Amino acid sequence: MKTIRKPATMTQAMAGLRQAGASVGLVPTLGRLHEGHLSLIKKARRENDMVAVSIFVNPLQFKPKAYQAYPRDIEADKKLLNSAGVDFLFAPEQENMYPKGFDSQVEVVGLAGRLEGKSIRWHYRGVTTVVAKLFNIIQPDRAYFGRKDAHQLALIRRMVADLNFPVKIIAGPTIRARDGLAHSSRNTLLTPEERMAASTIPKALLAIETRIRSGGVDRMALTKELVTLLTTEPLITVDFAAVVDADTLDPDIFGKKTLIHVAVIIGGKRLTDNRVVASHMVAGHRVAGHRVAGHRVTSR
Ligand code: AMP
Repeated sequence: MKTIRKPATMTQAMAGLRQAGASVGLVPTLGRLHEGHLSLIKKARRENDMVAVSIFVNPLQFKPKAYQAYPRDIEADKKLLNSAGVDFLFAPEQENMYPKGFDSQVEVVGLAGRLEGKSIRWHYRGVTTVVAKLFNIIQPDRAYFGRKDAHQLALIRRMVADLNFPVKIIAGPTIRARDGLAHSSRNTLLTPEERMAASTIPKALLAIETRIRSGGVDRMALTKELVTLLTTEPLITVDFAAVVDADTLDPDIFGKKTLIHVAVIIGGKRLTDNRVVASHMVAGHRVAGHRVAGHRVTSR
């Protein structure tokens, strides 16, 4: 595996591959790799001639403290990437991604404000900006993203369609530990007690999924129940919970699929997870056009 640090060098290397007729799959990450990343890499490995992984803890999408605290282990990551058969690691320095005078950002205006985006619009602007940069630097044929970050995936699909990026976005399923907790780099920051508490998250999501499958359509009630289930665990504070249309992230739209989304804080660490479930059908007709009262719930 070749490690490249400079954007211009990466662009040149990728252009060479394309000229030789090779297809390139990109898996963008923040590093501290786990099973979730590896499943995307395996998919990319199957579907492309060459696989590039980027590792970059993007300062635009973090508050300074969280940026400092984000787990990093580039040597362990390199070993994993090597054994996964990755061809290129792009691991740029901050000053090469955001040199002095950097002044442009990309925002998916409406969609970024959905879910908790209203309060962390800057975070999603940081995500779309860095992904746009990675697409321009690497120009992959396909780019792989996890459904674990459903809002991010929706934003990137929208950005690619709106700004005509010539890349195919491919989504991978959420990979979970035995107890159902979604793998996340942040899980490494949890104490054993907090890690045990975190297993409440997938259980609560699954309970709400079951409710929807058995006919629950009142999103306000479903969200309240989700919060109640999560807060049975004293170490959990619910930062945000919502039940929305999976494509538009709009609580008032009842499309094909429903997204159950949650962000919780455990011991100061923010963990997010979601489940997508087919929207409920009544006598062969999808329940459509139901307006429900505001369903956003913030507990404690
Ligand atoms: P991150 O390094 O957390 O930014 O994640 C990089 C990519 O891996 C993103 O597309 C994530 O959605 C995806 N990802 C993170 N965790 C998981 C998981 N448990 N299962 C599947 N994909 C994941």
